[in-house]
Amino acid sequence: MPRSVLVSGGCGFIGSHLVDRLLRRDDLEALVVVDNLWTGLRDNIAHVSDPRFSLHVGDAESFRAGGHFDEIIHLASPASPVWYMREPARTIKANIGGALNLLSLLKPGGRFCFASTSEVYGDPVVSPQPESYRGAVDCTGPRASYDESKRCTEALLFEEQRVSGLDVRVVRLFNTYGPRTRIDDGRAVSNFVSQALTTGVLTVYGDGSQSRSWGYVDDIVDGLERFFWRDGISHRGPLNIGNNSEISVLDIARFVCSLVPGSRIEHHAPVPQDPTNRCPDLTLARRVLPGWEATTGYQEGIRRTLEWFRQQIAAAGKSAVTA
Ligand code: UDP
Repeated sequence: MPRSVLVSGGCGFIGSHLVDRLLRRDDLEALVVVDNLWTGLRDNIAHVSDPRFSLHVGDAESFRAGGHFDEIIHLASPASPVWYMREPARTIKANIGGALNLLSLLKPGGRFCFASTSEVYGDPVVSPQPESYRGAVDCTGPRASYDESKRCTEALLFEEQRVSGLDVRVVRLFNTYGPRTRIDDGRAVSNFVSQALTTGVLTVYGDGSQSRSWGYVDDIVDGLERFFWRDGISHRGPLNIGNNSEISVLDIARFVCSLVPGSRIEHHAPVPQDPTNRCPDLTLARRVLPGWEATTGYQEGIRRTLEWFRQQIAAAGKSAVTA
């Protein structure tokens, strides 16, 4: 049966990779991307020429369509703390307002997929974090616009599932990095890589002992593809998707420095309420997605990301010269 699919945030880092996967589907009839290009980039989908694809530049929370969709994948939201902390109201609108609006565009019996976050666990006191862990989150803290709006959207979707049988799929993504991140994204890997290639000074907040579990984008999108549409999975989530090898921020920065001669680390003041650790418990993911694993180690993933950033920076330099 031909399927119509809407992706909010499809010009973003993860969204654009997911768009590439969706366009490989034989049963895809139409793919509509809604993106306001706040953090997403047209360049991320510039290579797409498929006639089934269309882009609507606008907010997920106010998007109107002529018809309804079989599947909706709601990704529209900044994910970098630097970006969401700058515009908290807009972040909340994108997540919760976006979900409320997009739900009205779903066909009866359609599937609604949502990218939630490991930030729902806050600064966890349990490690690794299983989906059943309820988290240590501060609703008045600097990360609240993001983590609370993700939590609230999860609540909305699971409650809709309970009262009206909505077919939901919710993933909780852990730190993801790779090609198509913005150069000014501000998250650790992209910041370190672009800093190494430009200023040569990598800004580590605090002593760098805080840890994350860094997932390379291709591995993460493999998991999303299988969970959202490819495998006939009845489990609805929430499902942790990430790489469970936990590495400190300082080790990541040191590794980036080792790849770019002349670059160095500078320690800056710690960020308020910066989570000290984060690591997915993947027991459920392994059961729901047998054979799936985030296999790309951080060294290989960072090498590939660095190469991509190098090309972007070179291309930007060339166009500045010819302009
Ligand atoms: N970080 C850092 N320098 C940077 C960017 C990030 O030391 O230039 C640290 C940040 O304080 C956090 C970790 O790297 O401890 C991961 O930050 P990121 O913004 O990537 O994601 P988060 O997991 O905090 O949402």
